[in-house]
Amino acid sequence: MPDGSEEERLHIHICETSRVQRAILVRMLSEAGFFCSASGHAQESLDRLRQDPPDIFLTAIELPDFSGLEACWRVKANPETEHIHTMVLSASGQEDKLAESLDSGADDYLVKPIDKNELKARMRAASRIVRLTQRMRAEAETDALTGAYNRRVFMRTLEREHRKALDQALPFSVLMVDLDFFKKINDTHGHASGDRVLIQTVRTAKTLLRPPAMFGRLGGEEFAVLLPGQDETEAMQTAEKLRLALQAMYVENDEGKPIPVTASMGLATLHAGDLESTGEKMLGEADAGLYRAKEGGRNQVCMP
Ligand code: GH3
Ligand code: MG
Ligand code: MG
Repeated sequence: MPDGSEEERLHIHICETSRVQRAILVRMLSEAGFFCSASGHAQESLDRLRQDPPDIFLTAIELPDFSGLEACWRVKANPETEHIHTMVLSASGQEDKLAESLDSGADDYLVKPIDKNELKARMRAASRIVRLTQRMRAEAETDALTGAYNRRVFMRTLEREHRKALDQALPFSVLMVDLDFFKKINDTHGHASGDRVLIQTVRTAKTLLRPPAMFGRLGGEEFAVLLPGQDETEAMQTAEKLRLALQAMYVENDEGKPIPVTASMGLATLHAGDLESTGEKMLGEADAGLYRAKEGGRNQVCMP
């Protein structure tokens, strides 16, 4: 069975200087059912790895700009790419590079000339590891009930995006979202209906919010949204859209009757040059806005 015939095809990025070798690898691996991209320079590969992370990075050792081992090390040193499975392709006579490759961050090692069957078998083995890792990552990063990113991932991404926005003087906003009188929904319609409201809330938010926006469940009926690139005006429009979409969503109770749902929101925006700001502080400001929204009668968006 060619790998990936039943599941989504895995993406292999190949870095190899020789045009001929590169074409051979692409052909063999495409035949084996993988989606392939390729480049002849280490830096170009690293740039592409960041922009469109593949599942597997297969690199030769000798490259025009810097070595494939250095490239593997950089992939593993960057939290955005560290999950990529790295494989080094050494020329014959470079067998002594095996230990160095693995120590540099390569997950596996292949020796040229490439035997087609061995290459395919190694890639099948790599695919098993990749798929298992992906499943474990997804389980560790998302909330089991709703599939939303969990608090840990949200907080980590918040700090990263906040730092990026501050460093590059880009707009950045954070939104806190809390369902109104949710305890009453549970009490009136039962816990299972409450769960359906939470699931539908996440579905609605995911449909509305496109990357780089990120939606997470902080806990219970409390959610938050990162809005990289959005200033106060844009973020307020996004928040209003989300508020209306949540108000309009349709969730049934056990008797098939609709459950009315609304949410209150607090919005915080990063002010350029505010070096005292942190992601956590912004979340605190958004929380202060949320408090005002609740005080002001709920089903509204407020700033701190
Ligand atoms: P407010 O408008 O002030 O936010 O009131 P509220 O009732 O929404 O807030 P409160 O914090 O009093 O209640 C939140 C409720 O959410 C209490 C808790 O039992 C419920 N809850 C938390 N997690 C879950 C869950 O996973 N499923 C369900 N069904 N309920 C949950
Ligand atoms: Mg609530
Ligand atoms: Mg709450």
